[in-house]
Amino acid sequence: MPALVLSDVLTAAPPGSDDCLRAAQHLMEAGFIRWDAVQNALHVSVEARAMLGDGLHDGVTVSRLIGLIGGSDAPRIQALWREALARRHATVEAEFSVSLFGGSVRHLRGVALCEYAADGSLAHALIGLQDVSAQGAVLQALSDSEARLEEAQELAQVGCWEWDYVRQQARFSAQALRMLRRPHDWAPDMQDVLALVPEDQRDWVVGLYKDAFANKTEILRYEVRHVEEDGTRELHTVARIGYSPKGQPRRLLASVQDITELKSYRRQLHSLSFFDPLTELPNRALFVDRLSQALIDASWHQQQLGTLLLDLDRFKDINDSLGHRAGDDLLKQAAQRLRQVLREYDTIARLGGDEFAVVLPDVRHPTDLGSIASKVINAFKAPFTISAQEVFVTVSIGGALYPTDAKDANQLLQHADAALYHAKGQGRNNFQFYSSDLTAQASARLTMESELHKALERHELELHYQPKFDLASGRLVGAEALMRWNHPERGLVPPMQFIPLAEDTGLIVPMGAWALRAACVAAADWNSRSSDPLKIAVNLSARQFPGGELVQTVREALSAANCQPQWLELEITESLLLDGHDEICGVLEELSQLGITIAIDDFGTGYSALSYLTRFPVQILKIDRAFIKELPSDRGNAEQLVKAIVSLGQSLNMALVAEGVETQAQADYLSGLGCEVVQGFLFGKPVSRSSFEQWVRAS
Ligand code: C2E
Ligand code: MG
Ligand code: MG
Repeated sequence: MPALVLSDVLTAAPPGSDDCLRAAQHLMEAGFIRWDAVQNALHVSVEARAMLGDGLHDGVTVSRLIGLIGGSDAPRIQALWREALARRHATVEAEFSVSLFGGSVRHLRGVALCEYAADGSLAHALIGLQDVSAQGAVLQALSDSEARLEEAQELAQVGCWEWDYVRQQARFSAQALRMLRRPHDWAPDMQDVLALVPEDQRDWVVGLYKDAFANKTEILRYEVRHVEEDGTRELHTVARIGYSPKGQPRRLLASVQDITELKSYRRQLHSLSFFDPLTELPNRALFVDRLSQALIDASWHQQQLGTLLLDLDRFKDINDSLGHRAGDDLLKQAAQRLRQVLREYDTIARLGGDEFAVVLPDVRHPTDLGSIASKVINAFKAPFTISAQEVFVTVSIGGALYPTDAKDANQLLQHADAALYHAKGQGRNNFQFYSSDLTAQASARLTMESELHKALERHELELHYQPKFDLASGRLVGAEALMRWNHPERGLVPPMQFIPLAEDTGLIVPMGAWALRAACVAAADWNSRSSDPLKIAVNLSARQFPGGELVQTVREALSAANCQPQWLELEITESLLLDGHDEICGVLEELSQLGITIAIDDFGTGYSALSYLTRFPVQILKIDRAFIKELPSDRGNAEQLVKAIVSLGQSLNMALVAEGVETQAQADYLSGLGCEVVQGFLFGKPVSRSSFEQWVRAS
């Protein structure tokens, strides 16, 4: 396009006389003013006159023209004009408003093309004017609505932002910047945007976007936690992703909302609908839910599950005599006592009034339910202090067991309730189970528990001894000490009837210590005069290991009896070695260093993780009698196993003992395999200490 020479335009025909120019002015809604600075003459086109008001006409003065510019704009435009002339700007551009006759205001955009004389003074100016009132109104409306949007965003705690993939540019609303704690003039790149997500959740969020892009997902929602000095905030983002026709992400528009408060309300609501505000225990709704869930688990794992219903006896009396506040206080304290006696994974709930309920998952033995119920009853023995008074409150308990008593939650609760009713009828302060058998078993077990407590001090425990022989020579080499309970009414009780209970209650620790002392006394007695000493084996329970007192107990037993450590053998179970490696290994190492022999009892029944055998100081494997029982047989399984155990023992340089040998054929077979020591009814049953002594003397 040829350069526009202003003087050519100025010397052309007066405005309005040229049809083309007029048409252009009309089309563009523009007007022109020609200013001949030399002559100081203004020529105003018809269109410009329409814009500026009819007060203008050719020959009007410049000062009149400038006087039209709105009050607040006038100084700005005058300064701009002065500056442009001083610097000889060829074009000057400005927007301003003019006040028209009659009070109306119009927004105009003006562009002046200026030409200067040789001395630098302005010679001509051609000023184009355009009415932008309508545009201004649109822009104003837009900025008004943006402001309103911002305000709404601020109120709703919602911010929004967008990412333009083509320009690699982001735009954040003021509220979004506030929420994301970024400055108002923040101009982030992609990395900065990514860094908005806390580091620990960033990979996860990036993964979400990657998946969304891969699947062309348009809407993506996620929550991110911001842990900051002044607390944790949770921000919820909903992103809408726009794709190009080729499937590339093109634009991402996202809203972020601070949902910290919302979540906390939700939590409060949850806690109100599922927890009892007084005791802070789960309420009936949550209890039923947990019970149903636990039943599914129990059925899946084929476990038993117990439920107990508890009712405070004579709660109403306390409530009536001491007042409701005292009643509330009692309920709180009762809840506290329940929490103390039950396991962490049991659910305790307050069903309403003075009624509580418990879910006991994984009840191993049906009578465990009785132990727990009696623990609860005991927990209520101490008085409660309510309103500065001591009050005694007892509790009645009804229980039912899954799957024996019921198959679903409703039935289980109904049956426990029936049992509770029964307990109340039995004079309160007791427990009853839905199945009367279970009640009987549970109370028998409880009686046994309290009797076993006294058995030690009443000297009702005894050790019997079962001889062990060397197969090749037929020589007596030692004995295993086996515990018996000489019960005043029931006679000799075998260990399988009381050892598990002793283990459950922890009584096995003092009982086991007693067995060690008694066995050491016997061993010292038999061996001190003999040239061919016997090795006496004592069984240890895994429960004797924690607490770090075992080594000391063994040392004291040895020295009190004047028993040499090489006369003592300790039998442990395979499972112990798998449990707590380091601690157990340390204890066994110390015992072994004392000169005591360690044997693994019932070998072959536990987990066959053979690696542990080399890691622990073990010298003897006792093959479990379950395998010996099957020997010899043509079906082969037991034979293969025993063969494998013998060759394993031999290759690890361990001695082998076969227990439960009952027949000559078994003995012959074992001898053929190279198993050295045997123990079993074929050679001798466990007998009392005095009988064993006679035997030793005789042999
Ligand atoms: P165990 O340590 O495997 O003891 C061997 C058991 O097998 C003994 O049963 C013994 O009488 C039995 N037995 C021995 N030879 C034969 C046989 O030829 N045929 C059959 N059928 N059985 C035989 P007992 O005395 O009833 O002891 C059972 C379990 O009680 C012991 O198994 C042991 O695990 C535990 N136990 C016994 N005394 C103690 C003790 O003082 N402390 C600990 N923690 N557990 C003990
Ligand atoms: Mg044993
Ligand atoms: Mg055994």
